[in-house]
Amino acid sequence: MRVLFLGTGTSSGVPSILCDCPVCRSSNPKNKRLRSSILVTLDGRNILVDTATDLREQALRYRVGRVDAVLFTHAHADHVHGIDEIRIFSYHNAAPVPCYGNEETIATIHRQFPYIFVPEEERESFAPRIATHVTREPFRLFEREIVPVPIGHGKQTILGYRIGGFAYLGDCNSIPPESETLLQGLDVLVLDALRDRPHPTHFSLDQAMAAARKLRPKQTLFTHMAHQLDHDDVNRNLPSGMALAYDGQVLELNDPA
Ligand SMILES: [Zn+2]
Ligand SMILES: [Zn+2]
Ligand SMILES: [Zn+2]
Repeated sequence: MRVLFLGTGTSSGVPSILCDCPVCRSSNPKNKRLRSSILVTLDGRNILVDTATDLREQALRYRVGRVDAVLFTHAHADHVHGIDEIRIFSYHNAAPVPCYGNEETIATIHRQFPYIFVPEEERESFAPRIATHVTREPFRLFEREIVPVPIGHGKQTILGYRIGGFAYLGDCNSIPPESETLLQGLDVLVLDALRDRPHPTHFSLDQAMAAARKLRPKQTLFTHMAHQLDHDDVNRNLPSGMALAYDGQVLELNDPA
């Protein structure tokens, strides 16, 4: 199993439009963060986690050749607004792309993108072909187990996903005890860490570190960073086994059962 970070930035991306701060002006490529998303490759099949606003740029930059399924964490704009780019992938697959999410996420996608769900014979222009599936319990996708992990994101309960020894908790500021039991024995945990100061819907870096210490994965990578966090400055001060992720980072992991 291979995991590619397509984006590690918060909703505005880094640099942020109209910002002059040192991180936004930085020439370090690791301070350039597209909107958060990952691509998981398993047996040659590509599973995209979220269709971020930057999906077109991500697909071109990292030469994403196909998308076989999408796992949605939630329906905030930065995680969904690249959904129109699924057009090209569904056309190449000659089949609808299966998309999974919790009830609220799937309902919001249907409400916010009604043009996608107009029957094909009634449509005059090209739209993504997607097949939505509400998921709550672990399910099999391409003969592998995908475990949805309910997590808190402000007032919402959204989904992280566990695949084998890997878990991705993209936007998160609390982990309920039932979900902690789903996150034991991890090789790699990817966890939201927005900035140093607390935020109502995202873990701060300190809160994310505390959550990681409790779950004790072998390695923790932080994502969904805002422009307050300079990649090299923060990484220098993190304990071993923890680091900020960066766009384009690749992880090679053991295949899940
Ligand atoms: Zn987000
Ligand atoms: Zn800035
Ligand atoms: Zn969000």
